[in-house]
Amino acid sequence: LSQLFRPLDLLGMVYRTIRQGVIDMGAMFDLIDTDAEVVDVPGAQPLAVPSGHVRFENVLFGYDPERVILKGIDLDVPAGTTLAVVGSSGAGKSTLARLLFRFYDVTGGRITIDGHDIAQVQQATLRAAIGIVPQDTVLFNDTIGYNIAYGRAEASADEVRAAARGAAIGDFIESLPDGYETRVGERGLKLSGGEKQRVAIARTLLKNPPILILDEATSALDSRTEADIQATLEKIERGRTTIVIAHRLSTVVDADRIVVLDAGEVVESGTHAELLRKGGLYAEMWMRQAQERDTALAAE
Ligand code: ATP
Repeated sequence: LSQLFRPLDLLGMVYRTIRQGVIDMGAMFDLIDTDAEVVDVPGAQPLAVPSGHVRFENVLFGYDPERVILKGIDLDVPAGTTLAVVGSSGAGKSTLARLLFRFYDVTGGRITIDGHDIAQVQQATLRAAIGIVPQDTVLFNDTIGYNIAYGRAEASADEVRAAARGAAIGDFIESLPDGYETRVGERGLKLSGGEKQRVAIARTLLKNPPILILDEATSALDSRTEADIQATLEKIERGRTTIVIAHRLSTVVDADRIVVLDAGEVVESGTHAELLRKGGLYAEMWMRQAQERDTALAAE
């Protein structure tokens, strides 16, 4: 019988997700993947985020009980600062982001925002406080205006335009014959990787959250587009607590703090200069990426 009800559960979850204003389809698919175990505790209070101080305190987590993925993570991200998380594939970087958004509950330790344990507050208010710019933005087969306003359907045309300008995609949209009414997605105008990222940035600007999670695309954009997007992201990071799952050199250099994750543990932490001086794993990654970048630039 439970098999029969599962699709209905999922539909309900999708509906609630849209109502809660979860900002991207990627996040929604992640959510669908998740068992409906993460629920509000009785009497959960709304989360108030006066400043946006994020802390991970000895966080333990595994998707399956037999396999621990995060092995006691401590992170302190003061309000308004940027933390870059780097590390090899499978180290647990995206898992940190999923836990902060509470797709899953931690199995040990706790995560707090301005001192409130995120497991004790209303999920909808937690998710309203966090904006995610995902690696790959999935567009709806609808107008570009709709795609930007997605997650805040009540946004006015002026607000959508302001967000598009903030994400540096306004001029592009206005140059199209149908402007914001242009249909995009599989059956409409195909947007480039960079343009899709800008749509995601515009959505986030409309949401205006105090906390940001940026999951950088691993796929290479050309270096000019990458630099342009980077400049836009720096603007939206201002005044917000930001956690970047970083794959690019440019982002990590400017972060207030960098942590290196390896097999579910923080093995190094500091600023770019401090970590380079240390000559450990980070310094090694940096050298390797710098070489790759030079080779790529030579090929462009
Ligand atoms: P990448 O840089 O490749 O994106 P990452 O550091 O973000 O890697 P995570 O996605 O956090 O790594 O994954 C950490 C570990 O957790 C991996 O070994 C992965 O196989 C496992 N994992 C991730 N998602 C799930 C899931 N839904 N169920 C079970 N295991 C998972």
